[in-house]
Amino acid sequence: MSKGRVLITGAAGFLGSHLCDRFINEGFEVIGMDNLITGNLENIEHLFKLKEFEFYNHDVSKFVHVSGELDYIVHFASPASPIDYLKIPIQTLKVGSLGTHNCLGLAKAKNARIIVASTSEVYGDPLVHPQTEDYYGNVNPIGPRGVYDEAKRFQEAMTMAYHTYHKLETRIVRIFNTYGPRMRLNDGRVLPAFIGQALRGEDLTVFGDGSQTRSFCYVDDLVEGIYRLLMSDYPYPVNIGNPDEITIKEFADEIIKLTGTEQKVIYKPLPKDDPMQRQPNIDRAKEILGWEPKISRAEGLKITYDYFRSLPDEKLYKKEHNDFKDFIKK
Ligand code: UDP
Repeated sequence: MSKGRVLITGAAGFLGSHLCDRFINEGFEVIGMDNLITGNLENIEHLFKLKEFEFYNHDVSKFVHVSGELDYIVHFASPASPIDYLKIPIQTLKVGSLGTHNCLGLAKAKNARIIVASTSEVYGDPLVHPQTEDYYGNVNPIGPRGVYDEAKRFQEAMTMAYHTYHKLETRIVRIFNTYGPRMRLNDGRVLPAFIGQALRGEDLTVFGDGSQTRSFCYVDDLVEGIYRLLMSDYPYPVNIGNPDEITIKEFADEIIKLTGTEQKVIYKPLPKDDPMQRQPNIDRAKEILGWEPKISRAEGLKITYDYFRSLPDEKLYKKEHNDFKDFIKK
């Protein structure tokens, strides 16, 4: 007996694909949706043979139709790396705003509960440290990250409006830096960048002086937190992330040690509006969900390194597997 039907948007992406696996393993029927601009079907190809899994190639920024009943919607479609949203800023804004509106409308029509993927970027370059959910943030709306940050802030506002006005069952997860297998090697984010550089025998590029901090959460811990939040009755935003904070320079040193590369660190200019510090306060998740991360960075990095190491050379040397130019022309 199925536990219910779930629509997962962004299903072919890094987090979306792990969520598909989790919901299938929990006994749900899963409908995956993705327009594949940053997602990759290889992440979910193992699910195609299952009768519990269906896939729609669709852009959620356009009207979303799903036939039959739906119990849950997990809205994770969005470009998520700074390089991606610099390349496709309008699509990033649209999926966080119009895409969210479509998903909320669908949830209302189907009487389904919805969880939306928000982000630590709603805090911008935070002046409060560590970041608690009641911090309103320090975001530059017109900077390069504004297209992502403001779309996600709009998403939260729209989701709360559906909750208060339409009494829809909504959940908001604020996701902090997450890593693990199925990240794109060339998505521009720091962990795949450093591991890719080590594997190709290139120097590791630290942006700025490397004193900025991040706090990295292993994907399985994140998925557990998201699952618990969806199943809870808590409608307000919840931070899910690993509070173990590290500077980017220390992180580069850890990757050098892990990979055994003989390359060194080189310094490049810090991108505009790059947050100086980021660390989740997870008291709310602990209290409401009984959740905290279990996988240490040493353990998670090893699994992730083994994954990247197992990829074929053409992936390692390919600059980008998504052809944004083709997409934008359409
Ligand atoms: N970064 C870096 N070298 C790289 C890629 C990223 O030093 O090759 C830095 C980046 O400037 C930021 C941090 O690593 O301070 C995390 O960047 P990422 O793009 O992974 O995500 P963010 O947390 O900034 O959204």
